[in-house]
Amino acid sequence: MSRYLLVVRTVLCAMSTLFASLLHLSPASAQSCGAHVAVQVLGSGGPELQDQRASSSYLIWQDGRPRVLIDAGGGSALRFGESGATMSMLDVILFSHFHVDHSGDFAALIKSSWFEDRKRPLPIYGPPGNEFMPSTTEFVSDLFSDKRGAYRYLSELLQPGEPGSYKMQPHNIVATSGTASVFRCGDLALSAVRVIHGGVPALAWRVEIAGRVIVFSGDTNGQGDGLTHLAQDANIFVAHNAVPEGATGVERRLHMPPSVIGQIAADADVEHLVISHRMLRTLGKEKQTTSEIRKRYSGPIEFADDLACYAVP
Ligand SMILES: [Zn+2]
Repeated sequence: MSRYLLVVRTVLCAMSTLFASLLHLSPASAQSCGAHVAVQVLGSGGPELQDQRASSSYLIWQDGRPRVLIDAGGGSALRFGESGATMSMLDVILFSHFHVDHSGDFAALIKSSWFEDRKRPLPIYGPPGNEFMPSTTEFVSDLFSDKRGAYRYLSELLQPGEPGSYKMQPHNIVATSGTASVFRCGDLALSAVRVIHGGVPALAWRVEIAGRVIVFSGDTNGQGDGLTHLAQDANIFVAHNAVPEGATGVERRLHMPPSVIGQIAADADVEHLVISHRMLRTLGKEKQTTSEIRKRYSGPIEFADDLACYAVP
């Protein structure tokens, strides 16, 4: 991104944030996840419906306002409503990757926004595509473009020139294993690294907000040291526990076992570890998972449930 574009985006962002704060934001009216800065788990599960959890999704709150949504797996749109958040309040949506359990409720969220009075653009950042997966711009376009989009009846929220209350602004983030700065808006800064999740283009995200740092591993097998650098000194590190210790084969090529989570949390010196993306194969093994992590990491460990709220003091 050029310096010029970054400056323009920052200025627009600051203006739209002020606009939003004047029009929509009344902390007293939102059933917010308390605290000055907090991360709320909208979906703590994986793809299986029998885990009775929504699939991956997280919301970052600041002073009663939901500012950043990370992923939108199945079931998370309902949790989003239950959290008290509205789409008008969001500053940005981030995707780690486009497996169904990270993106399946995106269209439901966008349709819900139709009934709100959002005016400012909605930036959406996620990975590029490959032969297995669409890029972020393709994903949004495959759903909402006016010609071939599955939900082309909502194309006015994407197509320039069409009348509509606001526009989605999707962007592909071509990150490497080195941390890439993606977005800055006042006291909110977003950066990402590419992580290895089998053959699926995937990102881990670092959200810096009001001096607090929350990092999301997304799905990854933990290979390489990009995630460790990204998570350095995080107040909260949300790590995905999709496989138990000892996993092999395709499961291990896609996901990191507890020992790897513990090593990354220790090496990155994170303050607080939240374990999420809990699946049938890891649920009920919390004792074993904790013990593997404890061999490496000594800080607090929490196992996430839907709608759990973790404040950053
Ligand atoms: Zn995945």
